[in-house]
Amino acid sequence: MPTWARNSTTQAEVKTVALRLSEWKQRRRVILHTRRNPHDFTDNRTMLAQRTLKSMTRAVGVGVHGGQRVEMTLRPAAPDTGIVFRRVDLPRSVDIKADAFSVCDTRMATTISAGGDPDGPKVKTVEHLLSACSGLGLDNLIVDITAEEVPILDGSAASFVFLLQSAGIVMQAAPKRFLRVKRPVEVREGEGASLKWARLEPYEGYKLAFEIEFDHPAVSQTGQQFVFEMDAARYKREIARARTFGFTKELDVMRSRGLGLGVSLDNVVAVDEYKILNSDGLRYDDEFVKHKILDAIGDMMMAGRPLLASYHAFKSGHALNNTLVRALLSDPTAYETVTFDDEARAPAGLAELAPAW
Ligand SMILES: [Zn+2]
Repeated sequence: MPTWARNSTTQAEVKTVALRLSEWKQRRRVILHTRRNPHDFTDNRTMLAQRTLKSMTRAVGVGVHGGQRVEMTLRPAAPDTGIVFRRVDLPRSVDIKADAFSVCDTRMATTISAGGDPDGPKVKTVEHLLSACSGLGLDNLIVDITAEEVPILDGSAASFVFLLQSAGIVMQAAPKRFLRVKRPVEVREGEGASLKWARLEPYEGYKLAFEIEFDHPAVSQTGQQFVFEMDAARYKREIARARTFGFTKELDVMRSRGLGLGVSLDNVVAVDEYKILNSDGLRYDDEFVKHKILDAIGDMMMAGRPLLASYHAFKSGHALNNTLVRALLSDPTAYETVTFDDEARAPAGLAELAPAW
């Protein structure tokens, strides 16, 4: 008997993982079979369902801007709740739903408040957690929070993915509702060298293409374009670990305005005039553009439903991304809500669960 098998706890864990793996393989076999044989209806036909957490989970960290300690508790939520942040540190708790019209500030991070009220209680830096929810196809979640900022953790979405998957993800008895983009919607800002744009177009899946244009010795050597087809396993592997990045000269300005107080080399890729300051370098060769895709996924989650669309952006940021989602939602002819009675007919990347290992 190998050493690891003598410990009964370890054996149980190995069994659980093996069971999950076989369930996942079986599920994938059914989906692939039905997709290849669309007329071969099987008894395994199931609707594509909404997802929430199986159990509660907790994390403690610091806010990247305020530098304060913050506790966060992620809880399961009923179908059609969406992602709701709950400020539990106030005399009376306040719920703030993550949607495009709750966004009240987009400088340095996405900040939301109930109804977008600039004077109301806020939650800052919601985008990385929302990106992780989108990447894992999570629809419903309550996020209790003890300060006005989501903890930055390692500056990427990987810690949130780990937390959510550790709590477990379950299907709910309600169809998953997508927003299918029916015609192109585009927003633009600036001209010439300062031009930025972002666009949503019809697409039977969820694809994101991003282009940055940093003329900087440390960034211009890295990939400045990336195209990503949403798929939970690929999200975990290729996007989730990309960290926030910042330039040291901008950090000095931010700190003089009382922002960036929680920034450290543990949660940001820091770049001076010439080079990357983190001793272990980058996690991906093209980590900068991948983080922009991670942010865009979080910002698009503000549509309130997962998208069936192709997103394409050039030098966009939180502000322009929010303008894009508002432009989409303000035109009821530009989108429709769709569900899939048979999950095998949904785009593969949006139907499958990410493996938990
Ligand atoms: Zn970010």
